[in-house]
Amino acid sequence: MFIYLCIIGLNDIILYRIHVPMTKEVCKMEPIHLLEVPEPAGSRIAVLVTVHPDDESFFHPFLLQQLWLKGWVIHVLYATKGEKGDVSVLGCDIVAANIRPLEAYAALHLVGVKKQNITFMGFVDGELAKQHRQRLVDLVWDYIEAVKAEMLITFDEGGVYGHDDHSVVGRAMQLMVRHKSFSTLRWAFFGAADPTVQDRWRSKISQIFVWPRQPTLGELGLRIEATDELLAVRMQMLKMHASQQADWHLFPMGPGDREAYLVFWLPD
Ligand SMILES: [Zn+2]
Repeated sequence: MFIYLCIIGLNDIILYRIHVPMTKEVCKMEPIHLLEVPEPAGSRIAVLVTVHPDDESFFHPFLLQQLWLKGWVIHVLYATKGEKGDVSVLGCDIVAANIRPLEAYAALHLVGVKKQNITFMGFVDGELAKQHRQRLVDLVWDYIEAVKAEMLITFDEGGVYGHDDHSVVGRAMQLMVRHKSFSTLRWAFFGAADPTVQDRWRSKISQIFVWPRQPTLGELGLRIEATDELLAVRMQMLKMHASQQADWHLFPMGPGDREAYLVFWLPD
């Protein structure tokens, strides 16, 4: 069995194949690919605001793929480095805060996101509810203004499935949308899984999290149906998060499932 690890260079990404199982002393790695970072074609900018490295692959992969194919330049802001995550499956003596951001770079590379457009905001994983929500709003708003973003993508207030950190970010972004003047931001979306997909996910993790209300059909502004191609990229993205492989199948999607977004601001 193999897992994959990426190392980011200035202009390229090397993917390593790591042999498992392995001891803590020996992490046997061999390079398998040298990939050029693709150059996005367009100039319109979308900003994804999320919490943990791997959220982008679980919850927003279809929209990210479609935006990239349409020439959007995607920026990603992570509230945390996912440092509370368990990475022991790697069998290496490495901490989550060091490996999970690298995995995010590799996953996002698959949808054209450059490393320099990925930012970790430095909030504490698992404790967003205790931290300063206004600081999160200010950081995101300053970023959106600086890059002249036209689209914001983030969580709904339920955090997709009731995860506290996700919900905090969703509510903070709603606060921001209400209180700031959106002179440059044209669209914003809240990610929310299709109800039928939520039902399937709920059965897997409802013992851990309280499920939020389901969006109704009338609330869904945009739905992207899962094609075989989109699903294949989603799975590739998830597999870049080797340290989180125990979760890869926690949020299953299949052909015909839809990744759905609530459009809350659409002035044009
Ligand atoms: Zn998360």
